Amino acid sequence: MAGPAGAIALTEAFETLPLLYARWIGELLGAGIPRERKATCGTCAMCRPADAAPHTEDHYFEPSAKCCTYLPRLPNFLAGGVLADPAAGPGQASVLSRIETRAGVTPLGLSIPARYSVLYNAGDDLFGRARGLICPHFVAETADCGVWRHRNSVCATWFCKHERGRLGLRFWRGALQPLLETLEAALAKWCVLELDLDVAALEALADSAAWDGGEGRLTAAEIDGAPDPKAYARLWGRWLGREAECFERCAELVAGLSWPEVLAIGGPNARARAMLTAEAFRRLVDPATPERLRPAPVQVARAGAGHVRLVSYSAYDPLEAPAVTLALLPAFDGRPTAEVIAEVEAATGLSVEPEFVRKLGDFGVLTPEE
Ligand code: SF4
Ligand code: SF4
Repeated sequence: MAGPAGAIALTEAFETLPLLYARWIGELLGAGIPRERKATCGTCAMCRPADAAPHTEDHYFEPSAKCCTYLPRLPNFLAGGVLADPAAGPGQASVLSRIETRAGVTPLGLSIPARYSVLYNAGDDLFGRARGLICPHFVAETADCGVWRHRNSVCATWFCKHERGRLGLRFWRGALQPLLETLEAALAKWCVLELDLDVAALEALADSAAWDGGEGRLTAAEIDGAPDPKAYARLWGRWLGREAECFERCAELVAGLSWPEVLAIGGPNARARAMLTAEAFRRLVDPATPERLRPAPVQVARAGAGHVRLVSYSAYDPLEAPAVTLALLPAFDGRPTAEVIAEVEAATGLSVEPEFVRKLGDFGVLTPEE
């Protein structure tokens, strides 16, 4: 997981997608994606405000890391996009430095070295906090992303908070991220075939963990600094020593593709993911309150002063609600929502706005009756 470190002051989320993805997804959806305004990256919504009283149950990120305690895979065409982009100054240096390490560097792109994965998965509560895990593309001086216009599917779709709660999560991370990841994997392989890698190199690559999107086992050579030079040379074949040029060539190839061509290269997996993304988008922008709702599991994180903080679909995105909400939830027992609202209003004298009920559904405090 990772989050964009600078999604600020843009009108629609297409504009916050990486350049290639904005074009493709614009064509797929045919309408702008509503912005995730609660993920205020410039002043990170997950960092403790200076004047905030400490609460032990609050979960804050480290301001000098934010959600970029993560190392993204960069498929060959995105790595090449950074290298060819004159606006990506600090990003270019960070990509070149990843190439120089040779760890996780193959003609498919920059994968996650096993050494990093071991550390990343070694503890609880590291994400957003451990400075030792900060992404090499994170620019410390400006606290934002050096490869913003070419970041990968995970970084492009990760938000700590969503305007429409669980519906947003289901669109971004449940639908769009797998679609983009499917395309990244397919296009990276397509580029390798177009580049005419020699057969021995193709054989070594197809046998490697990177071919199936994995990281492989940690080796002694990697712990001690770099992968085995012979194995590395076998993977690169005639492109050995010209890794950056290879990635730039991949970027050129992919930039020339239309959306239908991209989808065709992605095959049935991508087509299925595209259909699911379109459906998740339809739900994301549907303003209707679900016709029937039931209570869902929810945790009361804090109560007081007439308000409760409810944690439902994500610990990063609690819902603040009037304290009376808890008492109203059992009334939603699967009967028509309009009937339940009328009954509650008659019994309590309260005015229950359908928009508020919709929000309880969006955040998974109530769940639609299937
Ligand atoms: S944690 Fe949220 S607000 Fe902070 S940089 Fe990441 S997505 Fe943006
Ligand atoms: S690529 Fe950019 S958005 Fe992704 S983790 Fe690195 S700095 Fe953050």
